[in-house]
Amino acid sequence: MPLPQEGYNPIVWRIQQMNERITRDKMESLYFYLQPAEAIDGAHVTIKGRKMLQFASYGYLDLLGHPKIQAASQQALAEFGSGTHGVRLLAGTTRLHIELEETIAQFKKSEAAVAFSSGYGTNLGVISALLGRNDMVFSDKLNHASIVDGCLLSRANIVRFNHNDMEDLACKLAEAPKKVGKLVVVDAVFSMDGDIINLPELIRLCKKYEAILMVDEAHSIGVLGETGHGIMEHFGIDDGIDIHMGTLSKTIPAIGGYIAGDAELITYLKHSVRAFIFSAALPPPAAAAAKTAFEVIEAEPERVKILQTNVDYFISGLQKRGFNTMNSETPIVPIIVGDDERALMMAKISQEQDIFVLPVLYPAVPQGSSRLRANVTAGHTLDEIEHAMNVFEQAGKEVGLL
Ligand SMILES: *Cc1c(COP(=O)(O)O)cnc(C)c1O
Repeated sequence: MPLPQEGYNPIVWRIQQMNERITRDKMESLYFYLQPAEAIDGAHVTIKGRKMLQFASYGYLDLLGHPKIQAASQQALAEFGSGTHGVRLLAGTTRLHIELEETIAQFKKSEAAVAFSSGYGTNLGVISALLGRNDMVFSDKLNHASIVDGCLLSRANIVRFNHNDMEDLACKLAEAPKKVGKLVVVDAVFSMDGDIINLPELIRLCKKYEAILMVDEAHSIGVLGETGHGIMEHFGIDDGIDIHMGTLSKTIPAIGGYIAGDAELITYLKHSVRAFIFSAALPPPAAAAAKTAFEVIEAEPERVKILQTNVDYFISGLQKRGFNTMNSETPIVPIIVGDDERALMMAKISQEQDIFVLPVLYPAVPQGSSRLRANVTAGHTLDEIEHAMNVFEQAGKEVGLL
């Protein structure tokens, strides 16, 4: 990378570098980001008048536009308006916020819950509110950026362990001084690789070393477990996660994040997380939509079944075609390509054939593991999945991957 020249302002230089890169990508028709969609419905997205099959959505259970969720949100808009003008602690708490939190607590079989207006802000605010300067936080190397940033903001001593490597974590916990506060924080389902954390071993280690365990279920709610209740249901475990974090923006078609846990933890968070105290409340229509979405997941468990069938069909079909999908066993399926250029080309070829899939490149993923990240949902039919796989196969052959 070129260094800033003498007399250059590094801030201006940084802005210019980014702009040059984006201009270059656009000139080569290899820029895929921020495309305005005219419609996002079910398994499709319409861009520039073209209705494309959507393989870049987190709407795992196809809940966007669900009549019950839609109605609840409209009713909340009519009753409370579009926002609260305030933070939860002061004048921003409505009946809907309380009901949402009760619903989440029930769904996660916890004593209590608290909802925040962003999932990113939840991790940032909660991790930094829990930890002090002398504490230690143990974070998986592939954890989501919001966890990484929360750890950094906390000023605690950060120990990164190898991805899903429980032996490495055990060594690092064993080396830590006995008396310091320890938090272990992980994604349940990793957002780039689609693999699942080894929760049983993680719980055993946290008990042994007296560490508090926080699990981010952004891609686990509605996805894992027979009825979509998440990673504990997946492993058939009743207890052992101290802090259940999740978002209201992936399976749940709204915005926001939450923590579920013991009542004392939730009271502490409501009075200490800066993203809660100094940031406005969830808009009532979002709170109502989120609450109703949890109820729909419970009322329509067949959606989870369809999703799981689609996931199996997609992953096994890609593997049969010769693709490397790493250890994914969830709707997030990496199709490993290797270098940036071919990943970009494959995305371009796929989009030209109306399959909306996006490339993920370094530094979002380790160098040499650039990929298409394809997300399958309950909204896809098996025929649509088959068609998409055929397009990926053709694209893979065109770039010399297969
Ligand atoms: C998306 C995501 C978040 C952030 O959630 P938002 O609601 O989009 O802010 C946090 N953690 C993980 C693992 C995520 O994938």
